Amino acid sequence: MDSLFTPISHVGEFGLIDRMKAVLGSGTGNAALIASIGDDAAVYRVDDDTAHVITTDALVEGVHFDRSFMPWPHLGAKAISVNVSDVAAMNAVARYAVVSIGLPRNMSVEMVESLYVGMRDACARYGIDLVGGDTTASPQVVLSVTVVGEVELSRLVFRRGARPGDLVCVTGDVGGAYAGLQALLEQRRSIQEMGDSYTPDLDPYRYVIKRQLTPEARVDVIADWAKRGVRPRALVDVSDGVASEVHHLCRASGCGARIRGAALPIDPETRFVADEQMQDVDTYALFGGEDYELLFALDPGDEHLLDPTTFTVIGAFTEASEGVTLVTPEGPIVPLQPSGFVHFTDPGADQEEDPDA
Ligand code: ADP
Ligand code: MG
Repeated sequence: MDSLFTPISHVGEFGLIDRMKAVLGSGTGNAALIASIGDDAAVYRVDDDTAHVITTDALVEGVHFDRSFMPWPHLGAKAISVNVSDVAAMNAVARYAVVSIGLPRNMSVEMVESLYVGMRDACARYGIDLVGGDTTASPQVVLSVTVVGEVELSRLVFRRGARPGDLVCVTGDVGGAYAGLQALLEQRRSIQEMGDSYTPDLDPYRYVIKRQLTPEARVDVIADWAKRGVRPRALVDVSDGVASEVHHLCRASGCGARIRGAALPIDPETRFVADEQMQDVDTYALFGGEDYELLFALDPGDEHLLDPTTFTVIGAFTEASEGVTLVTPEGPIVPLQPSGFVHFTDPGADQEEDPDA
């Protein structure tokens, strides 16, 4: 370890994780380990047919949520859902959760109980048990959940596995959680500007606010695939935005992809918010994040096996040399960056270095 001072912002989140991975090296070389850092969850074999998966995700006050518009039960439920979503992203079923909680002095017992009501109800919906944790003082509320799940070895799906020609598919709709955040921020601005004379009207934003405050992991889709005996070739959940997750699948699979902007599944309420904010709704859909839908690579020959109401084909995987591109709804094809696309650029032209490529 040297004594240089490299600001974390210079390497970014994924660059930092690569540095951690380099420090850790290959660990004990345990032969039961099937996947570790780099997928949505780590996977280890428990017997000839079964693997367990394990994942952890934290929600930090001021970073992931704002107490002024995140009710405690919703926060508790979201902390569980985002972890179950990572388990689902391995095509696995969640079983147990433990939670570490950091509590500032200004929290009451009743607030913590509300948080636990949310976690209890979410666990009940997903069929998992919350079996332990840790409690500590903290300057902000921190909720760190770990979930373990299980899966038949033959049903595991990784981020790697997509092949050129596979369909790029996404469940549900995208951009809604970001639209919900914009709607909540707008209401807060109005309250701050107009004070008591302002009556919030959240009715036009019900769906998108729900997407932001209480996302649901798509365990229904995982169960449906199992019932139909279908398995995508590669899978990731959409926590960081469609563009970022397409890059993750491409990077892990050694592919490129071409995404059709016009095909992105977007709820009318999401469009309404983007219009109100005078922003581009495709930007919400591609870069918004927190949708917790599933993005997957499907063998075109398997398309007829899936329930067409549960997913949308948004593009196709290509050879790696073609990079990750977006066919804009207006027609031109542009490079699709993991966060922010370059408008009206020749895809063959020199691009800024992609830190996630
Ligand atoms: P996701 O969005 O699916 O939760 P992340 O982007 O948070 O995944 O993490 C990417 C990968 O890096 C995962 O395999 C995760 O386990 C690993 N990872 C993230 N942070 C750390 C850390 N602090 N130490 C070790 N591994 C980490
Ligand atoms: Mg994930």
